[in-house]
Amino acid sequence: MTLDGDTIYDDLGVPPVVNATGTKTRIGGTLIREESLEAMNRAAEAFVRLSDLQAAASERIAEATGADAGYVTNGASSALTLAAAACIAGDDLEVMAQLPDTENVPSEIVMPRTHRNGYDHALRVAGAEIVDVGANDYTLGTGSENTEPWEIEAAITDETVAVAYMEKPYTRPPLETVVEIAHDHDVPVIVDAAAELPPTENLSKFVEQGADLVAFSGGKAIRGPQSSGILAGREDLIKSVARQHLDMHASEPVYDPPESLVDVDDLPGVPRQGIGRSMKVGKEELAGLIAALDAFIEQDDQAVLNEWHDRAERIAGQLEGIDCLDADLINAGKTDAVTSVVVTVDEGRSPVDTVSLVGGLRAENPRIFVGADDVHQSQFTINPRCLPDDQAEYVVERIAAHVGSGGE
Ligand SMILES: *Cc1c(COP(=O)(O)O)cnc(C)c1O
Repeated sequence: MTLDGDTIYDDLGVPPVVNATGTKTRIGGTLIREESLEAMNRAAEAFVRLSDLQAAASERIAEATGADAGYVTNGASSALTLAAAACIAGDDLEVMAQLPDTENVPSEIVMPRTHRNGYDHALRVAGAEIVDVGANDYTLGTGSENTEPWEIEAAITDETVAVAYMEKPYTRPPLETVVEIAHDHDVPVIVDAAAELPPTENLSKFVEQGADLVAFSGGKAIRGPQSSGILAGREDLIKSVARQHLDMHASEPVYDPPESLVDVDDLPGVPRQGIGRSMKVGKEELAGLIAALDAFIEQDDQAVLNEWHDRAERIAGQLEGIDCLDADLINAGKTDAVTSVVVTVDEGRSPVDTVSLVGGLRAENPRIFVGADDVHQSQFTINPRCLPDDQAEYVVERIAAHVGSGGE
């Protein structure tokens, strides 16, 4: 983006955003890689059978993740919906046609309570009921865990179709422990790893730890199309996803989808349009995601993380020069995480409080988004990953303008 008012959003009369908060969907996620944009443009020039393209993508995703198979979805969120639909319906066409109505169909998904999050609505979209277990005891300092493994085990019944796990560096119990329990009861584990890249090795880590289905965003670190995602996992479950997602406007005598995704011989007929039909993935997103994934795998993680770290350090150094602000780096010592800047506002000396400062930056044209999770503690964050150097300078300048000379 340029700062001189010539973005397409300026043309449309909409203020563009300077992104100092990272890959957030509400402000556009990330910028699509050059390779991916080029692939999308080329995909737009010719027709293709989408099932053929999904079959090719499946092979690429399998290679990249170590899973048996993969599928390109409409964001990690619909990867979760399709994962739930596959765990509920398996290869049963009648159940596929019935979803999201799950009356008389086992459809419970067990989830540690501390893994519950706003995105798990996606699991319920398929008709699943989330059965959450555990408590919030870890914060008590009593030595007890948030969710004890036995609580997960006790919640698995004949109604259970999956265990869901939200992957973050801090989630407990460990994925391997949860996988062991679930697999003892022949129940698959769905992992939401939407934002757990980089490091690149996480593409295969959760599959290696035994997860049956893993969801990643295509529009975050991979920098593919914003409305793309990846589901990697067990072949039978990915086949169920394909049947519930591919367009089924097909004439039976000539219905001949790729064998790797649909076993026609095992089917009593052509499936109906499934629950995934409203989560369409176009040829442009498919080609764009494949190109982005290839480029993401090729890239040197450490070089990218170092570039972000250096930028964060420069920003922190400049903000330190403002009297009423204190700037510290977080994650600076970690080799696998993005270094960010935490800015603390001395509200006794600043002419504006933190909420007015953060709100004021957002109200400008272009809007400036900094991380606002901790404004109640007089803090905001600057994440360098979506912020080119010239825009970083601009953000520092605008913050300085809001706090004046720093309350001298
Ligand atoms: C971003 C995110 C999602 C949704 O991913 P999309 O690709 O935007 O659909 C789901 N779960 C978590 C934990 C996320 O961070």
